[in-house]
Amino acid sequence: MKVFVCIKQVPGVSEVKIDPKTNTLVREGIPSIINPHDKHAVELGISIKEEYGGEVIALSMGPPQAEKALREVLSMGVDKAYLLTDRAFAGADTLATSHTLALAIKKLLKETNVKRKYIVICGTQATDGDTAQVGPELAEELNIPQITYVLKFRLEEDDKVIVERAFRTEEVVEIETRLPVLVSVVKEINVPRMPGVQGIVNAYQNKEVIYLNADDIGADKSKIGLNGSMTEVWKIFIPEKKVDHVVLTGTIEEMAQELCNNLHDDKVI
Ligand SMILES: Cc1cc2nc3c(=O)[nH]c(=O)nc-3n(C[C@H](O)[C@H](O)[C@H](O)COP(=O)(O)OP(=O)(O)OC[C@H]3O[C@@H](n4cnc5c(N)ncnc54)[C@H](O)[C@@H]3O)c2cc1C
Repeated sequence: MKVFVCIKQVPGVSEVKIDPKTNTLVREGIPSIINPHDKHAVELGISIKEEYGGEVIALSMGPPQAEKALREVLSMGVDKAYLLTDRAFAGADTLATSHTLALAIKKLLKETNVKRKYIVICGTQATDGDTAQVGPELAEELNIPQITYVLKFRLEEDDKVIVERAFRTEEVVEIETRLPVLVSVVKEINVPRMPGVQGIVNAYQNKEVIYLNADDIGADKSKIGLNGSMTEVWKIFIPEKKVDHVVLTGTIEEMAQELCNNLHDDKVI
């Protein structure tokens, strides 16, 4: 079984810089981390391999510095890592991002002649774009079923997938489908393992990060990057904090009373 895990490198700082020309985030030279949800996606991928066998393949679309994120997941136990990097991918919105990831996955499936025995795992959302759109869009691009907000995962009869999915606040629903499938995970699904020294040495000395550009994945330049993006970011700005927040304390009654007083003073009620 092929287990594909999509990871995004995101700014590790809240103070982000915006490129005034393209209105996209400046990523070069900014301290970056692996998108927190994606570490849980990687952990699920590795545990699936440990329990059911298979190969875990991590993919990331980003600037060359995203190699660092892929080395980190290789040290956690991922088998192979692909960095989709090319100026032509820059400025991609979620549609162009998921199209690019889909082309890479289709290429790898074709090369290994895998038709149905695979799974794609994404995080629910990224801390920067925060749209939660890439997972579902990638499933559409691959024309496979998708299950989002996954809390628990198991495989039966070789290709039957049974998951528990967070539904509204308290409820959980159980969903069943067959491979291939795309799942996006929530943080509550597991606790990502910390790579050991051997894992880190292995990741840098014995494992490779394979670079793929637009030509390598057979991309039509009009469908990737800024060209392939349907959404245009007109303005990104850090909202200015207008008012101070008030923390209410005391019993429910006392807090309710204080809230009403404040709303009354502010002429809201
Ligand atoms: C502030 C801001 C606002 C934006 N608003 C929009 C918008 O409204 N609409 C829009 O189309 N684009 C928007 N973008 C661009 C968008 O961030 C990028 O398209 C991005 O590549 C994917 O979207 P996301 O960050 O929302 O990821 P999400 O959809 O939230 O990510 C979900 C999962 O998809 C996978 N994934 C996402 N990106 C990658 C990647 N590059 N490589 C590998 N796996 C990945 C990860 O598993 C991740 O957990 C915005 C970007 C910024 C910085």
